[in-house]
Amino acid sequence: MPARSLYIHVPFCERKCNYCAFVSSVPESGERALYLEALSAELSMRAKKHTAPLETCYIGGGTPTMLTPSQWRTLAALLEKNFAFAAGAEVTVEANPNSMTSEHLEVWKEWRVTRVSIGVQSFNDAELSLMGRVHCADEARRAVSRALSFGFDVNADLIFGLPGQTFRSWGLSLREAAHSGLAHISLYQLTPEEGTPWESLGPEELGDGYAPYRWAQWYLPKKGYTQYEIANFARPGHESRHNINYWQNGEYIGAGPAAAGYISGRRYKNIGSLARYAECIKSGALPEAESETLAPEKRAREAAVLALRMSSGICAENFIKEQGLDNYRAVSAAVEKFPHELYEKDACGVRLTKKGMRVANMIWSDII
Ligand code: SF4
Repeated sequence: MPARSLYIHVPFCERKCNYCAFVSSVPESGERALYLEALSAELSMRAKKHTAPLETCYIGGGTPTMLTPSQWRTLAALLEKNFAFAAGAEVTVEANPNSMTSEHLEVWKEWRVTRVSIGVQSFNDAELSLMGRVHCADEARRAVSRALSFGFDVNADLIFGLPGQTFRSWGLSLREAAHSGLAHISLYQLTPEEGTPWESLGPEELGDGYAPYRWAQWYLPKKGYTQYEIANFARPGHESRHNINYWQNGEYIGAGPAAAGYISGRRYKNIGSLARYAECIKSGALPEAESETLAPEKRAREAAVLALRMSSGICAENFIKEQGLDNYRAVSAAVEKFPHELYEKDACGVRLTKKGMRVANMIWSDII
């Protein structure tokens, strides 16, 4: 079945945050125009092979709001030229509070954007400044309410486990998020990533992760947000369809520097450097840095880990149909080695309990 999801990576940020390992940089003069020109060529190459209408499209980064509203009109026109969109398609845009303007919101509303995902990260100014974020808590508040006033489904990303972050300050950010009218809340635990200013933070310098996460699992459902995935909570009917496609091991097209895609059982990752990405496209080649067609057993294990991220877990019937009975048995056996309180297994399939989600990394390492 042809891919019905598209991810676009916008590789620009106003400044690098201290914890961030995503491929993005501060744009130099002319780089945004170069990006749009190269992306246009990549989209037309990829669209030729994929004609099914898109059910979901996700424009992330980086910081997509580093493109001006007029550049956004160009991007929207490129997407309309190359792809058909299914009726009711979900289209998400990531935004940063300080660079998202009302004009951006107008362009998105006129086009077909349905969701706006805002990088709030915290409602505490000291934490935002420690992370090297370019916005303050008030800007985040204003961005959320402005996006809501345009009628979008709004998500906020929040980070826990920050150096010096207290349980109280985490609780306050979470409470504010839950009372802001958001449709969706995504939570990330800080991990010191290689190549970032925070790469050498030791465990003793990081904030606790277990208690804040456990608190969120208890608190957010009380406020009407269901945990449907390890890091994601949504009001019923407002789950991210784009991300659900990833977790259900669905195929998707990725475009833009460093974007990843998964087509016909082949995973690929584009070249990260904008200059080399553009050069490669100019030569008429797809700008891929690496690609791999997964062997059946590896594909089954990856599919199992992705499915277990969701509270619905692995559906036995679908998994056996797609990955085979032997692989289902192997994955179930790997999960069943863990204490009972971490998972549930029945005729429908196998899934992690809330407690299991808190120690999921340990379970993944046994499956992969
Ligand atoms: S704004 Fe987002 S993508 Fe950009 S540096 Fe910060 S965390 Fe990374």
